[in-house]
Amino acid sequence: MASSGGGGDKGIVTGMVTHPKPLVDAMLSRQETSTTAKEIILAPNKQALESTSQSKDKMIQANPKTLPATGASDTYSTGPGAYTEGDMEEEEDEAVEVLLEDDEVQLAGQWTVLSRFYSLRSPNQAALFDDMKRAWRLRANMKVKSLRDNMFIITFSSEGDYNFVLQGGPWLHRGDALLVAKFDGLTSPSMVPLEFVPIWVRIYDLPLVLMTKRRGELYGSKLGHVREVDVGEDGRNKHDFFRILVDLSVKKPLKTSLAIKINVQGSEAVRRFELRYERVPFFYFICGYIGHSDKDCDKRIANIDQPFRYSAELRCSPLKPFERRMSTIRGQ
Ligand SMILES: [Zn+2]
Repeated sequence: MASSGGGGDKGIVTGMVTHPKPLVDAMLSRQETSTTAKEIILAPNKQALESTSQSKDKMIQANPKTLPATGASDTYSTGPGAYTEGDMEEEEDEAVEVLLEDDEVQLAGQWTVLSRFYSLRSPNQAALFDDMKRAWRLRANMKVKSLRDNMFIITFSSEGDYNFVLQGGPWLHRGDALLVAKFDGLTSPSMVPLEFVPIWVRIYDLPLVLMTKRRGELYGSKLGHVREVDVGEDGRNKHDFFRILVDLSVKKPLKTSLAIKINVQGSEAVRRFELRYERVPFFYFICGYIGHSDKDCDKRIANIDQPFRYSAELRCSPLKPFERRMSTIRGQ
């Protein structure tokens, strides 16, 4: 754990764990969930099935699917007696009804993003947004509302600023990323998929014929959603490496290479090509996940004797002017 922390750090650690849980855990919790769900859904039993209420129909539809999977037909008829249909009705009755006007919804989420400082450190908020103000070249004011887990709701006063922030990036503060996503007035913060960071990925040593825009989109799709392939107007590569702007998920480890199966003249071969990442946020060299370091990595304990799988080599500087090497030499 980071030593910087006050009491708030603990909460952040739980919220920020980026690894998928070990498979066993995941399966266990899935089983638990299905058991719980089974108890709740199946208890009303056939009476409920025969009921005509639409909302109940939706709940019950899950039954035929979950039954064979869990194979628990014995317990099927012996659900918890404490649960009654009446409770369900009561909850539905208690719903507060709201009527939303279109312009009201639109105004609530106008030029607003949800963001998260993707780090186990709690940032100094003033320093963070001082950095962002500069990186975003703000033309107008913005309002920042701080939420739990290093999350912020940011509302811009100018559409230009809003678009610039959504279309640009990665936004870095002291090596860690500030993730941003569209945030409309109608979606709950917890429903916004806040896990992508746009990164220019470089592929090295590709044969010429493999460096076209269309193929770049194909390679990039193996890494994430492709925003852009850096090719010239003729659709061909401009550098001595191939550059693709991809929205990388922080929930997946960085890849060190890309495998391409090349089919030519009836024969095929798989070749691996080295990847590097421009301005990638901090990642840890054992697990390859963005957003934490050795102290915070649960894979480190499991693989303490293993050599680092990743290295700083994976990181490269932003594209420099001298790397734009295209020039045309005219014939006489
Ligand atoms: Zn890790």
